[in-house]
Amino acid sequence: MSSSFRLDRTVTLNLAQPVRRVIGCSNASRIPVLMYHGINDITGVTHPYFETNTSPTIFARQMRHLREHGYRTIDLKAAVQMINSGANLQGVVVITFDDGFRDFYTHAIPILQEHQLTATMFVVSGFIGSASTRLAAKDFMTWSEVREIESLGIEIGSHTVSHSHLNNLHLRDVGRELKGSKQTIEDKLGRPVNSFSYPYAFPEHESIFLEQLRQCLESTGYEYGVTTVLGGANQTNDRYFLPRIPINEHDDIRLFEAKLKGEYDWLHLPQSLYKFMRSCYINRTCYK
Ligand SMILES: [Zn+2]
Repeated sequence: MSSSFRLDRTVTLNLAQPVRRVIGCSNASRIPVLMYHGINDITGVTHPYFETNTSPTIFARQMRHLREHGYRTIDLKAAVQMINSGANLQGVVVITFDDGFRDFYTHAIPILQEHQLTATMFVVSGFIGSASTRLAAKDFMTWSEVREIESLGIEIGSHTVSHSHLNNLHLRDVGRELKGSKQTIEDKLGRPVNSFSYPYAFPEHESIFLEQLRQCLESTGYEYGVTTVLGGANQTNDRYFLPRIPINEHDDIRLFEAKLKGEYDWLHLPQSLYKFMRSCYINRTCYK
């Protein structure tokens, strides 16, 4: 189907991969932080580039690949410590999930356990209740289920209270989203929450907003965070705005391995340029 043509896949496997291999790029100083959302069979509705779901079958295949190829998964907290210490990061992977969908509990957890892998889950505190909440045809975990996955070694982070576009909010309301979610999750789990995941596309060119957001995260007590900016995490990144690598149903093992190895990171440049031009168009701030 022509609408499913993957320019990103073609460039990754036919250009970025051979070039990086000839140059001999090392992965000793970067950690791929994988970004998943839903683990369910509702896939193929959108173009592969925009897909956010991964079927349990494909997810299991990807997790088996990690185990069989000697990858070691750690949570985000350990990853930040390793990055800061200058340790060799070869073969280390972080698996993250955004939103707190119930299919993480029903489908992802058994697969992660089977392969003895760990992960970090970012929940939207306002979407989690004593009974499972259903919003926009998606089911969310209950607090009891969040506590259960936490007891299995899953790190729990915040993904705000209401999954808002934070860069459209007044700073006071941004503070409420950060503090409210942290407080609620800590109350429900009885453990400190240190990590934050920024919802939606990360406004990487809105420098004033990002400085305010960073100060807010720091003063609220967060220690690190992730974004949708594409790339491997390394020492040059702000620890509150670590890049990640999106993974979905359409990542066959060849593309999955290329993403792990940094051979997909080239896409950040065109993505960033597109976002910059779009923000100029919307805000007309190019010449200020
Ligand atoms: Zn989200």
